Amino acid sequence: MNILVYFEERAGSIRKPSYEAIEAARSIGATSITAVIVTASAASVLSDTVKRSGVSKIIVVEEARFAHYSSRAAGKAVAEVAKQANADVVIIPATARGKDLAPRVAVRLHAGYVPDVTALAMHEGRLQATHPVYAGKANVTIDVLTPKKVYSTRPNLWKASKEQAESAIVENVTVAFDEKDFAEQTKELVLSQGKLDVAEADIIVTAGRGMKGPENWGLIEGLASAFGAAIGASRAVVDAGWRPHSEQVGQTGKTVSPTLYVAIGVSGAIQHLAGMSSSKTIVAINKDANAPIFGVCDYGIVGDAFEVIPQLTEEVKKIKH
Ligand SMILES: Cc1cc2nc3c(=O)[nH]c(=O)nc-3n(C[C@H](O)[C@H](O)[C@H](O)COP(=O)(O)OP(=O)(O)OC[C@H]3O[C@@H](n4cnc5c(N)ncnc54)[C@H](O)[C@@H]3O)c2cc1C
Repeated sequence: MNILVYFEERAGSIRKPSYEAIEAARSIGATSITAVIVTASAASVLSDTVKRSGVSKIIVVEEARFAHYSSRAAGKAVAEVAKQANADVVIIPATARGKDLAPRVAVRLHAGYVPDVTALAMHEGRLQATHPVYAGKANVTIDVLTPKKVYSTRPNLWKASKEQAESAIVENVTVAFDEKDFAEQTKELVLSQGKLDVAEADIIVTAGRGMKGPENWGLIEGLASAFGAAIGASRAVVDAGWRPHSEQVGQTGKTVSPTLYVAIGVSGAIQHLAGMSSSKTIVAINKDANAPIFGVCDYGIVGDAFEVIPQLTEEVKKIKH
C-alpha cells in the first residue's frame, strides 16, 4: 500500500498533526511513506527534523504564490503528487486547513473520503476508518470501496513520530498552475502570538458561563499557566464576547483530543462534548452535581469554581516545582 501524507506548513515549520499522520499511516502497516509539502519556500521548511521524520520520501511542490494558502491550488498540487506517487491512500491532518483541503483532493482523485478519522485499522485485509457521528455519541466504521482513499485524521490521537536516523529523499515536482488556481488565497492572521493553540495543546483548561464574566479569566489563566495548558472556551462565553472564537471547543468550534482536559463551569452540552469527548483524561469542576459533564469526566469536583481553582492552581504549582 502506497501512502501519501500531507505535511502542513505554518510559518516555515511543519505542524505537529502532520507527524501524527505518519504514525496513523504506520498503524496500518505502511512501511514506505511519502510526504508532500506545498510551499512558497522549500529551503526554509526542509529542516533536518522534517527530513528525519520517518517518511522515506518528501515530494516538494514549490511555488511563490503559496506564500498565502490557496485551497484550489493546494488541492491540485496534492492530487497531482498523489497520482505521480501512485498513492492508494492519502492522509491529511484534520486541522482547519486539512478539513478544507482533503475533500478537494478526494474529488480530484475520484477517491472515497472519510473526514475526522479517530482510528485506522486493517481488518481481514481491508482498511477501516472510525469516524464519530451524532456529535460524538456514536462511532461508525467505514470501509471505503474506491481504489483510492483519502482520510483526514483528528489531531492529538496518534503520537507524533520520533526523529529517525535516516533522512528522507527529497524530490521536487512541478505542477502546472493557472491564474484561476490562485484566484482565492487565505491570509492567516495570528491573533494570539505566543499562546498555545487549543487544537494542538496537550493540556487544555476550558471555562464556561459558570465563570460569570470575562473579568474572572485571570483565575483560568493562572491555572492554565501552572499546567502549561492552552485555554479553551464554551460557545456560550464566545457568543457573549468574553473570549475569542479561536478558543471555542465543540461542534462549531475546534475538535480537541488532549491528554488532559479540565472543564470549569461548563455544563457539558452535547455540542460541547462533540469537540472534546476523545480527550484522554477529563476533569470537570461544576457546582451542579447533575451537570452532564459529570457523565463523561474521569474525575469530577462538585464545587464552586471560585473556591476550587485557587486551591487547584496552588497544588499544580507545588507538583510542578
Ligand atoms: C448548532 C449548535 C452548535 C453549538 N456548538 C457549540 C460548540 O461548538 N461549543 C459549545 O461549547 N457549545 C456549543 N453550542 C451551545 C451548547 O448547546 C451550550 O449552550 C453551551 O455549550 C453552554 O455553555 P456553558 O456550558 O458555558 O454554559 P451553561 O450551559 O450555562 O453552563 C454553565 C455551567 O456552569 C456551572 N456553574 C455555574 N456557576 C458555577 C460556579 N460558581 N462554579 C462551578 N460551576 C458553576 C453551572 O452549573 C452550569 O453547569 C452549540 C449549540 C448549537 C445549537
